[in-house]
Amino acid sequence: MATKISLTNQFIDLEHEFGAHNYHPLPVVLDKGEGVYLWDVDGKKYFDFLSAYSAVNQGHCHPKIIQALQDQAQQLCLTSRAFHNSAFGPFAAFITAYFGFDKILPMNSGAEAVETAIKIARKWGVKNKGISQEQAQIVVCHNNFHGRTTTIISFSDDQVAKKDFGPYTPGFISIPHNDTKALEAAFASNKNIVGFLVEPIQGEAGIFTPDEAYLRNVQQLCHEYKVLFIADEIQTGIARTGSLLAVCGDCSCESSCLRQTDTFAAPDVLILGKAISGGVYPVSAVLANNDVMGVIQPGEHGSTFGGNPIAAAVATAALKVVKDENLAQNARTLGQLFRNAINEYIKTSSIVTLVRGKGLLNAIVINDTPESDTAWNICLALKENGLLAKPTHGNIIRFAPPLVMTEDELMACVKIITKTLRTFEPN
Ligand SMILES: *Cc1c(COP(=O)(O)O)cnc(C)c1O
Repeated sequence: MATKISLTNQFIDLEHEFGAHNYHPLPVVLDKGEGVYLWDVDGKKYFDFLSAYSAVNQGHCHPKIIQALQDQAQQLCLTSRAFHNSAFGPFAAFITAYFGFDKILPMNSGAEAVETAIKIARKWGVKNKGISQEQAQIVVCHNNFHGRTTTIISFSDDQVAKKDFGPYTPGFISIPHNDTKALEAAFASNKNIVGFLVEPIQGEAGIFTPDEAYLRNVQQLCHEYKVLFIADEIQTGIARTGSLLAVCGDCSCESSCLRQTDTFAAPDVLILGKAISGGVYPVSAVLANNDVMGVIQPGEHGSTFGGNPIAAAVATAALKVVKDENLAQNARTLGQLFRNAINEYIKTSSIVTLVRGKGLLNAIVINDTPESDTAWNICLALKENGLLAKPTHGNIIRFAPPLVMTEDELMACVKIITKTLRTFEPN
C-alpha cells in the first residue's frame, strides 16, 4: 500500500513541480478509461461523474471513435487548409446535415469557436446593420462561462478568471440569464447590438436551467431586433441534456426538426466543442447558415489545425455514436431517475438543499457557504468510495457521467453518492 501511495504522489509531485499551477485537481492520478469507468495508477476503479466537463459523453475510449482515429492517423493527419484534404469536405457535409445548418467553420478548442462566433457576429453587424466596427456590442449573461481567452474573460464576471489580466476587450453588455425583459430592454436601448451570446443552461455557474419558454423567447426577440442568437452549446450540446441540443428543449426527435424554427429555439450561430469528438481529440465548430457565415472571406479567419483530417474523422465517428446508441434518450431517462433518487434522499437530508439540471447535466447544492470546503471534502470522500466528481462555484457539485451509462450503473452510483453524503449529515 505504501508504495502505491507514493506512486500517486510521484505523479502529483512532477505535475506540481513542472506544470503551471493553473488548476486545482482532485488528488487522483488517472491512467486508464473505458466507457463510464476510470482507473488510477494504483488500479483503483472509479465511476466518472464529470466526463471531462461533458467532453466524454460517448464514454472513455469508445472503440468506434478510437478506430476512426487510428485509421485516419495512419493515412493523413494534417495538411493545413492551404490545401484541400479528403476528410474535411465529407465531414462538413455530414455535420451540417446533422445539425441543420448550411455551413461549418471548424476550430479546435471551445474558446476558439466562441472567438470565431464573436468575429462572425461583429462582421455580420457591419455588413448587415451598418454598425461601425468601433460600436458593435454583443450581449452576454451574468455568470457566463465561455472560455479563457483575453476577449472572453473580458466579459466574464468570475473575478478569479479575470483579475489582473486586463486591459479588457470592450464591446460587451452583460444582463441576467433567464431574463427576457432585460434582454428586450438592452435591445431596445442600443442600436449597435449584433449578437446575444448565451449558454442555454449555464454550466460552470452551477447548472442553471432557465424557464421553459426562455430560449424560444430569446430567439423571437433576436429575430425581432435583428440580432444574432448565438448559442454556446459546448457543454450542453451533443445529447448531454436529453436532447441533441439544449435549444431543442423537450423535443426528442434528434435532428429531423432542427430546421423548423417554429418547433425549437433555432440559434443563428451554434457553437459546439467538447463531446463533438467524444473527448478523443480537440475539435470545435461554429455552425451557421449562408447569410451569416457568408460574411467570412478567405484570409479573414483560420486555424492551422482547424478542420484537420483526424478531427474530421474523429468527430464524424463521435456524432454517429450519439445517434446509434440513442444517447439523448438515455440521458433523458437516466437524468430523471437520478433527480428522483436524489430528491428522495434530500427529503431526509440537511446537507443537500437541492438537485437541479436536465438530462445527465445535474448539480446538487450543498448546505454551506460558497467559501466552505464541504463540497470539496464530499468530492474527496466520493473519490475514496469510487466516484469522481468536482465542485463548481464553491458549494455546488456537478454530476455529469458519460451518457453510455446503464440504469444499473446509475443506481450503483446513486448508492455511492447517498452513502457518502450521509457521512456528512450532522447527527
Ligand atoms: C468548456 C466550455 C468552453 C471552453 O471550451 P475550451 O475547449 O475549454 O476552450 C466554452 N463554453 C462553454 C459553455 C464551456 O462549457
